[in-house]
Amino acid sequence: MPELPEVETVRRTLIEGGLVGLSIVSVTVAHPDAVHWPDPARFAREVTGRRFVDVRRRGKFLLFDLDGRTLACHLRMTGRLWLSATTEPELSHTHVVCALSDGRELRFRDVRRFGGFTLLEPDGGMAPSLLARLGPEPDEVSAAAFAAALQRHRRSPVKALLLDQAVVAGLGNIYADEALHRAGVHPARTCGSVSKQEQKVLRSAMRALVRDALRHRGTTFLDFRDGAGEPGAFQAFLRVYGREGLPCRHCGTPIAKRRIAGRGTHFCPRCQPEGE
Ligand SMILES: [Zn+2]
Repeated sequence: MPELPEVETVRRTLIEGGLVGLSIVSVTVAHPDAVHWPDPARFAREVTGRRFVDVRRRGKFLLFDLDGRTLACHLRMTGRLWLSATTEPELSHTHVVCALSDGRELRFRDVRRFGGFTLLEPDGGMAPSLLARLGPEPDEVSAAAFAAALQRHRRSPVKALLLDQAVVAGLGNIYADEALHRAGVHPARTCGSVSKQEQKVLRSAMRALVRDALRHRGTTFLDFRDGAGEPGAFQAFLRVYGREGLPCRHCGTPIAKRRIAGRGTHFCPRCQPEGE
């Protein structure tokens, strides 16, 4: 569920919260599913004593630069990562707790348990499988690369292309639907049918959408919280996602929902004509 704007909001709020410069005093792994690599005991041993040097993001991955090692975290569907006082009661499904040098804790909670941490090997050994396949960020997709990807996937629905992390890193079901509505492109149209002009509009729609969502600190649809435990506010500005049957904000036509590219997909039948 958390997509680029939410993950970036977590990154920013962790930095605002003062994570950089703090060290990890101890690590408690309450559920092994939350540590994807290496095993929980080695994981705890390897990160304990290290200091947070920076927090970066790539696609939907958070990258914690510790001195000497990088720790990747993916929130997947329900992962939450936030700075907490030790006195705050521990929520259920809190699977990893890092005690920090200022007396606070970095807590990781994940109800569905798909998310978790991967410690990247110092030589980048684990990194290729995780990060090298990621395409450019939405604001870095060049016209040429986007045109080539559409051509390569010309028989696939354009919705599938926007979800493909190798084409654009960071978009998921919410922002793919929103970008297509902004661009007036029906999600089931084939990539090959998207004109040069539409490609241009779609690329700038992705950029503007991510910028707008970041300004509102992401979308809280079910349970997203940022690195300070606060919800986002962009849900109030969604144009199609989660609005099935409600009037299109542009033309008033009821928003439709259909399974496209294997995902429940929202669109306006009038603003996004299919037969074009
Ligand atoms: Zn409409």
